[in-house]
Formats: sequence, C-alpha cells, structure tokens
Amino acid sequence: MIPLSQPQCQSEKGQTETWQEQLAGAFRDVPALLAALDLDRAQAPYALEPQSPFPLRVPRAFVSLMQPGDWFDPLLLQVLPLARESDRAPGYSEDPLRERDTNPVPGLIHKYHGRVLLIASPACAVNCRYCFRRHFPYDENTPSQADWELALDYIRQRSDIQEVILSGGDPLALNDRRLDSLVRAINDIDHVATLRFHSRLPVVLPARISPPFMDTLQAIDKNLVFVIHSNHPAEIGNELKGALRQLRSAGVTLLNQTVLLKGVNDDAQTLESLSRRLFNAGVLPYYLHQLDRVAGASHFELGDDKARYLHRALLETLPGYLVPRLVREDPDIPYKAPLA
Ligand code: SF4
Repeated sequence: MIPLSQPQCQSEKGQTETWQEQLAGAFRDVPALLAALDLDRAQAPYALEPQSPFPLRVPRAFVSLMQPGDWFDPLLLQVLPLARESDRAPGYSEDPLRERDTNPVPGLIHKYHGRVLLIASPACAVNCRYCFRRHFPYDENTPSQADWELALDYIRQRSDIQEVILSGGDPLALNDRRLDSLVRAINDIDHVATLRFHSRLPVVLPARISPPFMDTLQAIDKNLVFVIHSNHPAEIGNELKGALRQLRSAGVTLLNQTVLLKGVNDDAQTLESLSRRLFNAGVLPYYLHQLDRVAGASHFELGDDKARYLHRALLETLPGYLVPRLVREDPDIPYKAPLA
C-alpha cells in the first residue's frame, strides 16, 4: 500500500467511502498523482503530457496497488498521459473499429450475430491510455431515457438478439437507479437469454460492486456474465477478490480479457501469473487481445510475432482452461479474429 495523503477508501472522519465518493476523489491531476507515488517529475525517464485532451483519471483504489517510486510500474503506465500519445503512427485512427458504421440507433452497436452492445454510460472511472474509445463521440452517444427506449425497442423487435452486452465507457459508471432500471427493462425482453457486463470498474474501483448493485443482479432472471478487464497480476488485490466473491455468489459467470501492452504485460511470466491469479479469484481467462489501433496508443503495440510467441509460452506452461484465446478485433470481420 502506498502512503496516500488520505487513507484509501476512508473519509477524513475515518468512515468507509462509498463508491461514488471514491469516484469523486479519483486523481485527475498528474502532479498530485506523482506526489502520492513519491515520484519527482524532474527525474521522469519519459516525457509527460499533463494537459492531454484525454486527461488523467484514476481512482485511488487502483493507485494503492502501484509501487511508490517506480516510474515503470505496470499499473501506472496504463494511466499516465505521455507526450508520445501525440505521435501519429500509420494505421492508427480515432475509430479503429469503425463503430460508427454499426451504430443504428444512438447508444447501440450491432455488429455481431445474435448480440448487441449497449453503450450504457459514456463515462468511465479511469482513462486507460490505450482505450480504443478514447475518441468515440460519446456526446452523440450519451443515452437519454428516450434513447434507451429506442435501443430497447430495437432489441425487442429482433428476436434473434439473444445477448445484450452492457459496455461504455463503463456500464458500472451509471448510478445505481439508472442501471437498475436499464437492467430490469432488458430482463423483461423474453428472447434475450444472456446479459453480459464488460467492466473494468471492479478492477479499478472494487467498491462499485455495492449492495444496491448486487440487489439488481439478484432480481435478474437471465444468464449473467461479467467480463472484467485485467491486464496485470498486480491488479488482483484483496478488494477485487472480495468483489468477485460477491459476484460468484450471485451465480455470475466471471471471465477476463486482457489487452497485450508493451511495457505492461509483454512477458510470459506476467501473463502466466495473471491467468493463475485470475483463476484463484474465480475468473477464467477469456481473451488476450492485440491492441486496437487507436490514435495515441501506438507505443503500446506488440508485433504479431511477439504476441504469438507469448501465447505459445502460455500453452506450454498452463492447463488449457487457463490459456486465453489470442485475438484481434477487425472491423471487417463479424467476430474476434484468432491470431493464427
Ligand atoms: S476501463 Fe475500458 S472503457 Fe474505461 S478507459 Fe479503460 S479501456 Fe476505456
């Protein structure tokens, strides 16, 4: 644990903070984050970009898992804005998955057979530097109640849609009341068999798995799947394990997807350790993703040969059920493309 200026998850009066209070207290200022981690900006081994248009945002619970004094901490590297993000690399764009082409009504993306993705909330608790939606026009896709009705009608009218994926931003950035209302409306659609959450909030803000959210899940009569987005074994702390225990006790299937990131998780031991720690926390590794080529993230990319090498190393050291599938998202292919 790092010596944050205020004890993590506690208010000044020593009370445990709610997830909303923790969210409001997230770091948004590069100098404050560096000070909390005992890092002297004058000693930075790389150029920072404190005024990035995609600004720093990171909850204290996630920062508490970082190693003070380490400029190359793999969790820090995922959230710290760098000057290199201004590099314009060939093949990188603002909408690498061309989601605008599969956006039939505001807030809904229909790309895959039998599944739709709802952008439940444009907000997120953290700004990951490699986020493929960092340039997505969320202002045009911030769903109002009327938009949700349009999106729900779209789903109601298509009986081939068996699964609704709540994504974002992050769906758990919605407040409890709105999330409950959305989830119950989906629950009322008979042909939807599965409700899937894609959320990194349990990792960066485990308190989000709150009693009201658990009440919402208990009321749902669908298959429930939760895909957490963990990229490094150091992210799996006790708070996250407690949150995952609660989800498991509600019958939720827990999966993980990882993005391959240079400097963060680009070695076989780290990935092996991540799979084992996930499994010990009740989560099955699902996908190992090549980076989506979003402008600003090119310095995280690993070549395909290196990605295949790492995947082969996992096949050699892990039981098959702990080896995630190595894939890439291709805007022209209606499924996650295996990296053969
Ligand atoms: S948690 Fe996911 S949606 Fe949020 S910034 Fe990170 S990658 Fe983007």
